[in-house]
Amino acid sequence: MTATRVLVLNSGSSSVKYQLLDMRDRSRLAVGLVERIGEAGSRLKHTPLTGGGTEAREREEPMADHDAALRAVAEELSADGLGLDSPELAAIGHRVVHGGLKFTEPTVVTDEVLKEIQRLVPVAPLHNPANITGIRTAQALRPDLPQVAVFDTAFHTTMPESAARYAMDVATADQHRVRRYGFHGTSHAYVSRATAELLGKAPEDVNVIVLHLGNGASASAVRGGRCVDTSMGLTPLEGLVMGTRSGDMDPAVIFHLVRVGEMGIDEIDDLLNKKSGLVGLCGDNDMREIRRRIDEGDERAALAFDIYIHRLKKYIGAYYAVLGRVDAVVFTAGVGENAAPVREAAVAGLEELGLAVDGELNSVRSDEARLISPEYARVAVAVVPTDEELEIANQTYALVSDPA
Ligand code: AMP
Repeated sequence: MTATRVLVLNSGSSSVKYQLLDMRDRSRLAVGLVERIGEAGSRLKHTPLTGGGTEAREREEPMADHDAALRAVAEELSADGLGLDSPELAAIGHRVVHGGLKFTEPTVVTDEVLKEIQRLVPVAPLHNPANITGIRTAQALRPDLPQVAVFDTAFHTTMPESAARYAMDVATADQHRVRRYGFHGTSHAYVSRATAELLGKAPEDVNVIVLHLGNGASASAVRGGRCVDTSMGLTPLEGLVMGTRSGDMDPAVIFHLVRVGEMGIDEIDDLLNKKSGLVGLCGDNDMREIRRRIDEGDERAALAFDIYIHRLKKYIGAYYAVLGRVDAVVFTAGVGENAAPVREAAVAGLEELGLAVDGELNSVRSDEARLISPEYARVAVAVVPTDEELEIANQTYALVSDPA
């Protein structure tokens, strides 16, 4: 029997999201989420998608660590006849947030690889430790199976130095590995390729601006399938206005808050990562709620929306200039896929650049990749649902089924 299943694990500090896929038809066999690992009220939500049953099962029980969480996941999968001991399982694919400069491709995990991911912890202190834990736990469960790391940063390693370097002292930057790495790379890779497909062209033949607008948000400029710039930097804090992150600001704001505001570094880190962006501006980070408040005449929500759109527009303009010729601007992730008013406002007034949105097409709700620009527009505007898990599974399976 050939092994055709891939388990995708996305391990956070207190959570694990997972999907089991059959790569013959890329169908999902089961999906689930474990939350509050190591905290009170740990719970697992598991949804089998085969055998007629698609009802989610939930269990709430103490799960002290990722090991306990993954064992619970394995039990649920076994109950559906999809156990991790199955010979049909080909590999486990792991999302790893930071791969630095070294990891430009999906990589089979070895001790050396784990050491390198560990070495990158100082530049990804919130994410890489959890990813390492997830890999170690999965290795313990199936030591014989290839574990594949798929890096959020990998797609952006093609950025030229002119885009990747900050204008600061080179020796200091290099000593501390300070540069722009970019994130959400799996999504930018998947969506830029799917956009080329939607246009009926090869990825090498199109230039695309990808706007990944979820709770975290980033833009990228992709020339002929290769990333040439992206809005997130050393960490996911740089760039667009996000749900709770500030995005771009004068770095001297931090000196000011230390010196004049007498705030501590951790406090400012928390402020800019968790209490800024839309939530800092208006108290809400959910675009649905913000739109509802705007419809009721709420001025704070309206200003938050305007600031969000202003920044987005600046990035569209910047990446237009970086690319020179743009074939498509594409919206993806929670806000990008669902919030028609965001898409309309982001492109409004850019007709001179060949950009326009057709009101009717834009208001259609769908899970399919689709064009929302009028036929006459020079540049296509598209909505392409992202699928990071499928991309991780594809890359994992491609590596283990054709290791050359
Ligand atoms: P993500 O991080 O990609 O899961 O995106 C989550 C965000 O998408 C939420 O915080 C909302 O702001 C936004 N979102 C999800 N569904 C909708 C919707 N129907 N309309 C507007 N925004 C939405």
